[in-house]
Amino acid sequence: MKKKKLKLRKGAQKKLIILGAIILVIVLILGFYFTRINELHSLGYSKEAAKNIIFKFKYSYVRDIGENKTLNAAFESNNYEEKNLDSYVKINYQNQKHLISNINKLLKKGYSVDEVSLIIDKGDDESVTLFAKRDKVKYIEEFLSVDYAKLANYDRYVAYKEKENDDAETTVLYVNMDFDKEDYVDPLVIDEFDDYVLVNKHRQLSSLYVPDDLVTIDADYVKADGDIEIERNVAQAFYKMAEAASEDGMELMVSSGYRSYKDQEEVTNTYLELYGQNYVDNYVAKPGFSEHQTAMSLDIASKSVDTFVNSDEYSWMMDNAYKYGFILRYPKSKEDITGYKCEAWHYRYVGKKIAKYIKEHNITYDEYYVMFLDD
Ligand SMILES: [Zn+2]
Repeated sequence: MKKKKLKLRKGAQKKLIILGAIILVIVLILGFYFTRINELHSLGYSKEAAKNIIFKFKYSYVRDIGENKTLNAAFESNNYEEKNLDSYVKINYQNQKHLISNINKLLKKGYSVDEVSLIIDKGDDESVTLFAKRDKVKYIEEFLSVDYAKLANYDRYVAYKEKENDDAETTVLYVNMDFDKEDYVDPLVIDEFDDYVLVNKHRQLSSLYVPDDLVTIDADYVKADGDIEIERNVAQAFYKMAEAASEDGMELMVSSGYRSYKDQEEVTNTYLELYGQNYVDNYVAKPGFSEHQTAMSLDIASKSVDTFVNSDEYSWMMDNAYKYGFILRYPKSKEDITGYKCEAWHYRYVGKKIAKYIKEHNITYDEYYVMFLDD
């Protein structure tokens, strides 16, 4: 009896040791696993990506790379492809839903990692996804390395370049300004108010586009019949400018400000009855195409001289308007770009920073908008 007990005890002991060993191994493995997860997490990888990195045995690879958002996205994605691992590392991350599957497709078509970076940088998820389905094309670097290039305009760049033979930067700029389209044909329609809105012969304000903070210009500054309304901040900037001008002996006035879509419709109809369609087509802004509907533009007048361009106020404005955030919107030297004959009196408020840039670089608001504000 004694012996048997001892045997049992020995057998149980053995089992316990094995069990203990198993538990120890599990604890060690789990400890190891969670240490690595935490390490990867502190390098900027999500828990999900970290888990896949470990299961795919890429821990040391990733640790050597360090933080890399594209790599993180790749390991988070079901579309991860091991053969593209080195490429993921070199491609600049973009926050796009189909990023990894699009990268895989583009690499498969034979685009270099630099080209893939440009393609996804200059497109959004939708345009990249469409582009990734196409056969490989040329001139990616030529066009898409221009800062403000858009992937969605790629075919138009190629067509415009073939026709006009301008350099890539000019091509991208002009196509983004819709110079490859006829005036007033298929314009972009804008219906939400925005201080920086660009209106021209390719960009139309809808009848729903209504300024949100109109004020009436002080009657002392009005050279017109009736009230003139304008956005509040434009009025404030104008008063400051007019005060500064008056210290130099100038008397700045306003002859026109906000005109609603409906106002412009009425103007068009009046001229149509008086002078006919041909006149209207050539000289009257169609409803939605007048910058006055933005309430960010003023027609400036001189109190004493009727033809503004002959006044001292005109010269003063040419030198000083930008300091108060105003730009001459349709300058003489830029008729090809604005599509408008020079209007010496028509000023647009864009704020001091933009006005200064436009003045210093001798560009139009159309160009500035495409280069810096359009997305
Ligand atoms: Zn005007």
